[in-house]
Order: sequence, then C-alpha cells, then structure tokens
Amino acid sequence: MSVRTRVAPSPTGDPHVGTAYMALFNYAFARRHGGRFVLRIEDTDRARSSAASEEAIFEALHWLGLDWDEGPDVGGPSGPYRQSERREAYTQHVEALLESGKAFYCFCSRERLDAVRREQQEAGQTPRYDGHCLSVDPDEARARVAAGEEHVIRLAVPGEGTCQVEDGLRGTIEIPWQQVDMQVLVKADGFPTYHLAVVVDDHLMAISHVLRGEEWINSMPKHRLLYDGFGWDMPQHYHLPLLRNPDRSKLSKRKNPTGIDYYRRRGYLPEALLNYLALMGWSMPDEREVFSLAEMIENFDIDRVSVRGPVFDPEKLDWLSGQHLRALEPQDFAARFNEWASADRLASLIPLVRERTERFSDLAGHVDFLMGDRAPLDTDSFASTKRPPEECRRILDHVLRAVEPVESWQRDALHEAISSLATAMSLKLRDLMPTLFIAIAGRSRALPLFDSMAWLGRDLTRDRLRTAIAALGGISKKEAKRLERAWRDLW
Ligand code: GLU
Repeated sequence: MSVRTRVAPSPTGDPHVGTAYMALFNYAFARRHGGRFVLRIEDTDRARSSAASEEAIFEALHWLGLDWDEGPDVGGPSGPYRQSERREAYTQHVEALLESGKAFYCFCSRERLDAVRREQQEAGQTPRYDGHCLSVDPDEARARVAAGEEHVIRLAVPGEGTCQVEDGLRGTIEIPWQQVDMQVLVKADGFPTYHLAVVVDDHLMAISHVLRGEEWINSMPKHRLLYDGFGWDMPQHYHLPLLRNPDRSKLSKRKNPTGIDYYRRRGYLPEALLNYLALMGWSMPDEREVFSLAEMIENFDIDRVSVRGPVFDPEKLDWLSGQHLRALEPQDFAARFNEWASADRLASLIPLVRERTERFSDLAGHVDFLMGDRAPLDTDSFASTKRPPEECRRILDHVLRAVEPVESWQRDALHEAISSLATAMSLKLRDLMPTLFIAIAGRSRALPLFDSMAWLGRDLTRDRLRTAIAALGGISKKEAKRLERAWRDLW
C-alpha cells in the first residue's frame, strides 16, 4: 500500500500552531515511509472561510518548510483540493446513502429541534436528534424536496449496540450508538458538513493514514458508518494529543498566542518551532531534545507518539530556539537574521519613521519596540496616565474585546474599533491612548499607535495587551465578572 497522508485545515482566521503540529506529523509520517503528503482545504463553512486565510496557511506552512506534494496551489491527480470545489462528489455519494436508507431527509424546523434539545437536557439526557424524520416515507420525502421544502440530510444511526473503532495509538475504542447523534451530512445550503466531506475526500484521495487531533475521536463512529455505508475500507486513524494551556484546556488564543505568524514575527527559527511541536507529541528513540526535521523524519515512529495532552510551554520553546540559533555559523546567523528582518518588513516601517529620522542611527531607537520586545512593565510604568491600575486594566480589557472582531488587521480598522470603544465608554480617544501606548510600546511617546498595532499583527498585539494587564496586577475572577458586565452595558 502506498502511504498517503494529508493535513486538512479550515481557512478561517489566522493559521494556528495546531495546524503546523498536524501538518508536521503527517509530513514526517509520509516522508518516513516514502509516501505523499497532501494539503486539502476544508472550506465548507462558507461564512467563516476566506481566500486570505487560505493564502496565509500556504505561506505559514512554506515558512516552516513543510511542502506538500498535492494541494490546491500545486495540483495533483486527486484534485480539486478545495472542498468547495468538490460538491458534485458529495452530492453523488450522499445519493447512494439515501438510496440504501443509510441517510435520510430531515425537514424538522429549528424550533422543533430546540424544543427536543431542551426536553432532553431537562431529562438529563445527551442532546441528540430524536429520529423524527426517519418515519417519513422516502417517496414522500423526495416529493417534498422536489417541491422545494427546506431540508437537511442526516446520517441514520443504529438505535442500540456499541460501535467499535480502531485508533492506532489507543487500540479498540467502544462507543455506544446511543451516544452518537444522527449527524447532519448535507446542510440546508447544500454544502456538506465536515463528516461527509472528510470521509468522501479521504477515500477519493486514497489517504492511507489519518493523523488528526484527538477532538475527532468521538466522530469515529459516524465516520465508521459512512465508510461502511459506502462499502469502503477505513484508513488507519491516529488521534494525536491536543496542545493545551497550562490549565489543561485546549490551547486557545485567549490564554496563549496561537498564530504561527506570532512566532515568526517574534523571530523564532522555523526549525526551532518544528522541533518544539515535534517534542509536544513525540520523542526521539534516544530522547535527545534538539533535532532537525530531517532527523525527525529519519527516526519517526508513530508508536512513539504519546497520548498525554502536552502543555504548551513557551520557556521550553525559547530554550530550543536558543539552541538552534547558537548552532548556526556566524554567516548563516546573519543570513537568517536578514531573512527575518527582511527588506519588506523594514520597508513597511519606513513611512512611520522617515519624518522622525535624520541619521540611520536614529532608527533603532524608534523601532526597538516593534522589531524587538517592548520594555518590561509594572504598575509604575502606567503612572504618567494618572489613572489607577484598575482603570488601566479596564481600558485594556475593553480594547482586547473591541479588537477581537476586527477582520482585516489594518490601521484604519483598528482606529475605528478603538474610537467606537472610546465613544461607548464616554471617553475621548485621546483619553484612552496613553494607557494603550504604554501597553503596546512600553512608553508614552512612540510611533503612531494604530500603525504600530497593525505592524505587530493580531497575536503580538493581543499578547502585549494581556501581559500589560498582568503587569497591572492582573484580573481576578470577581473583576473579570465585573468587566464582562461593564462591557455588555456599553453596547
Ligand atoms: N478541517 C478539520 C480541522 O481543521 C480537519 C480535521 C481532520 O484532520 O480530519 O480540524
């Protein structure tokens, strides 16, 4: 059997380190076994997917050096590699399931589904579809669909018994069918859900081994039913442990920077980030901690993947990054630094500093907080704002919330979001600015603020706001509740 693996990110938001982690393991597995590595874009969520996000995924994975043999940009024999371009395949296949009664049309209204869910919750049951439309005669269902009645297509799930599925890392997993929902396979907009699309695509793309996050384990029974319904063999599945916050919750941007771009902008070497991600789920046979991608591939053995959820540890990443940097010859070090500081990155700073510069040597003093870290902060750093720490915390908390929905991380959009916030807080924009300047730049006078935030990028800006709040004493649970209320009352 030829080995084929894939990574299947959804192009929503900024490329996540979780995507890099999955890509790395699938890449290493394929390379170790002389197989092929496929990039598939899972863009069936039309509202949240964007071309910009897809482009950013390509860019981030290229930076990491994880090249794919087949994908939307490079083509290949199993294309197209974007799910939005494969709708015919899903429609055709789901038809076969409808024919054999493995799937059925469902006409239930949102109100009915909500009422059923409420009843089940009140009775202490796991909410799931109650099978109402299973009793609709198939001919009648087809007539209703032909007449244009709104509908979805659901998976028929056995009422009793237990499903057995195999996970390459955990062995046989048993899940009672009672716990498995009659999953929507095709949504009212005609687009497939993840579950239908992933099974059809993994099969049609001849994926032999699926390495994906452990959050999908509970979906295995649904996928099992689909593979059986189509009469296909199921690829071997391995569910890798999720990256976690220190409190063991799933790694989230609220608690940790999660964007690949954040690590790039902060000047980590891509090989150090890969080394770090490799260590999160796997170890070298000789337990050595510092290694290259080529060494990982050479030694890769899926049985050495651990199933314990690794806690994301920025200090360890710093240490590894230092190891990789120090191993570079001075010439290479300089070349890599140049690559990081890049002419483009510098050029985008020039409009901000030109008017303030008389000699090249003035530059460093202006851009230090952009190219480097900002100065460490404590409560005294905010003394010049003449606001008590609690108020500074409130401002920064609200700014964090206000910039959250900003889609295009640009100066004007940031300016607008923060101006609206000032108005909502009955403040002038210039009343908010001193606190923000210190949080972002570490001093009260610096390059234009919104340009600086745009240049730093979303994750780094958020990280600075968050660490500034921590420097101001942090937010207790009680205060968090108060701030949440204050925020809601603003709008
Ligand atoms: N689109 C899914 C995700 O981003 C892919 C999961 C899978 O690998 O099957 O999590």
